[in-house]
Amino acid sequence: MTNTSIGIDIGGTKIYIAVLKDGDMIGDPFKFSTPDTKEELLNIVTGSIEKILAKYPEVKFVGIATAGAVNKEGDKIIGSTGNMPDGYNTIDFKEVLSSRFGLDVLIENDANAAAYAEYKIGAAKGQQNTITVTLGTGIGGGIIIDGHLLKGKTGVAAEVGHMQISENPKRKCTCGAYDCWEAYASGTGYAINAKEMTLEVPAKERGFLKDKNIDEITSFDIIEGKKQGDALCKQIHERWENLVLKGLIALGNIFDPESIVISGGMVDCIDLRKLEERLNKELAAASKVRLLRAQAGNYAGMLGAILLAEEKFGA
Ligand SMILES: [Zn+2]
Repeated sequence: MTNTSIGIDIGGTKIYIAVLKDGDMIGDPFKFSTPDTKEELLNIVTGSIEKILAKYPEVKFVGIATAGAVNKEGDKIIGSTGNMPDGYNTIDFKEVLSSRFGLDVLIENDANAAAYAEYKIGAAKGQQNTITVTLGTGIGGGIIIDGHLLKGKTGVAAEVGHMQISENPKRKCTCGAYDCWEAYASGTGYAINAKEMTLEVPAKERGFLKDKNIDEITSFDIIEGKKQGDALCKQIHERWENLVLKGLIALGNIFDPESIVISGGMVDCIDLRKLEERLNKELAAASKVRLLRAQAGNYAGMLGAILLAEEKFGA
């Protein structure tokens, strides 16, 4: 039997909607900017599904990867994020898409879904215990234990970005708490680290960064400066690597995974082999963890949601 399905990825800036046959995308997905209102968002989703169903009437189910928290059953959004339209978490995709189109709906948090894709078809294929950490604007995570996504009692487990690390001075996170891992080790954290550390140095001693607007320094600037042998850029980058390592050590010690897969925009800033070596030196137990680069691609979230939907509804 073949499964034709619809995969949807709803993020804070972009929405992707695609047709899939047995988990493989057919053609390019529809792409949209995330609109300001939940009504517009729902129109984008239902309008695209209508078009797809006109061509592929055999579609039976939809897999949705979304920013925000999703319940344990995988059928309801229970928490939104700051960059989503107001009231996003009140959209009942299951009710709308089943009553209007007769489709089954599975929803999963995008970081969880991406981890599931890495486990099933990506870098950690065949490994029953693996964690995917998405290092981007924030830090997301998905944890696979004995071949299953760790969901917790309500579905919101694996918020690895909000594990607390001890740093000085303290820094506030987008979640409202202080000293979350993502406040320091995400791409956003990287830029704040760079600004703080540059301000500590007299202007004329800032080397590669001396002519840069301090509020606009990015990880790309630092990496470029580091390549050119700049001492301050090297220090900034090393501090960030140490901060990334802190979180990885905690995850390695707690979950004893076969691998930690790194995805997201910041993966290109990491020397994975070097960090893997340091990680394995720091772990409390003798167990080794492999540090891998994500392989499931830009649509990992959508593909993970479809893999989960196929397991639940597939032929
Ligand atoms: Zn936080």
